[in-house]
Amino acid sequence: MSDDFIPPRGTLDWLPARQAARHAMLDRFRAICEGSGYAEVATPVFEEKALFSRTAGESSEVVGKEMYLFEDQGERVLALRPEFTASLMRLYLGNGMSREAQPVRVWCAGSCYRYAAVQRGRYREFTQVDAEAIGSDDPAVDAELIALQLRWYDALGLEGIELRINTIGDKGDREPYLAVLRDYLDAHIDHVDEEIRRQRDLNPLRAFDTKHPESQKVMADAPKIADHVSEAAREHFAAVRSFLDARGIVYTVDPTLVRGLDYYSRTTWEVAWPELGAQSGIGGGGRYDGLAESIGGPATPGVGFASGVERVLLALEDQGRLPAPATRVDAFFAIFADDARPALHALLDQARDAGVRCEADLAGRAVKGQMKQADRIGAARTVVCGDDEWARRACLVRDMASGEQVEVPLDGLVEFLVNAKG
Ligand code: AMP
Repeated sequence: MSDDFIPPRGTLDWLPARQAARHAMLDRFRAICEGSGYAEVATPVFEEKALFSRTAGESSEVVGKEMYLFEDQGERVLALRPEFTASLMRLYLGNGMSREAQPVRVWCAGSCYRYAAVQRGRYREFTQVDAEAIGSDDPAVDAELIALQLRWYDALGLEGIELRINTIGDKGDREPYLAVLRDYLDAHIDHVDEEIRRQRDLNPLRAFDTKHPESQKVMADAPKIADHVSEAAREHFAAVRSFLDARGIVYTVDPTLVRGLDYYSRTTWEVAWPELGAQSGIGGGGRYDGLAESIGGPATPGVGFASGVERVLLALEDQGRLPAPATRVDAFFAIFADDARPALHALLDQARDAGVRCEADLAGRAVKGQMKQADRIGAARTVVCGDDEWARRACLVRDMASGEQVEVPLDGLVEFLVNAKG
């Protein structure tokens, strides 16, 4: 490789097997969403920065440190979307969807961008699938979304995943609790790391996400938000749990699960496959009843989740469960008569038009090499055309499983292949 070769970026490259698996994964997600009344939508890749800073919050990691920002010719500050939720709420508010039957259920999939240290499972360009139900504060909807997310993992054959849930109460619960938490942090300030001290004023909840062992010990005994939420939020959480319990969904209540974005309220959840390593979170979600107001809309409840397609794919790969690509080739054309190539390639395209999946040798292989290639790609049939067959304007069609061979006139070849395919 020459010195000026541009190496692959730190992303999960979508090579053929993975790309095929990704489509299979997305097809599953689509089928599951549509089966539950969620309709596909799409949102812009770049948005005004304010859409994210006003919702997820300046103090959140995603907005404060990880957004890709740029200024356009109109001096607007734009951001590559780091996630979908705010855009989907804006879609709902901006298109009068509150007049439709509530909740409005939508899903989407696409690239998201975050400036983060790249490692396995953590990329600067990654793919999320996302589902949201906007317009209902019924706890049944929180449970419906958790169940939908798990149904996808289950349909993909993912095993050993863990669901953690928590409640972080309503907006009004937050400040009184944060005051209690700050007092606690102040009392233990000598035993927590620099990052927590820095976040003390701005976003002390982040302390629960610390990776610093001594700080983790301190946070294990910290006052938990779930003990400081309103009666209404407590009842909501109990109801969500009863909807999960009735479905037989297994979960752990994790009082330290606060999630990094400001807009969350009440229910939060995360799903992980711990064996994935440092980036084991494969998806997370929550309720965001205050989000609409933060972008100038009327109070509108909502709940949803996002899941990282790359991480789910890595987990499937590790578990040996990557959806297999549909590689079956119906017919491999082994053409040994040079004069026959143009006519046979034209027939090959006609067969493709008729729905027969076929390929031809394009590497100038000799007879043996072409037959080997037909075997290797698992072709159901091989169409052989040497000088003798070409002289008769015919070919031999060999059934690769039985070894049976018949001569077929070229003008009947496409029909033959279509019928043979069944
Ligand atoms: P979040 O919006 O941070 O809760 O992210 C939802 C899901 O997106 C996570 O559980 C991950 O599966 C995935 N995800 C988030 N950030 C990244 C990233 N930088 N690279 C790959 N996947 C990510």
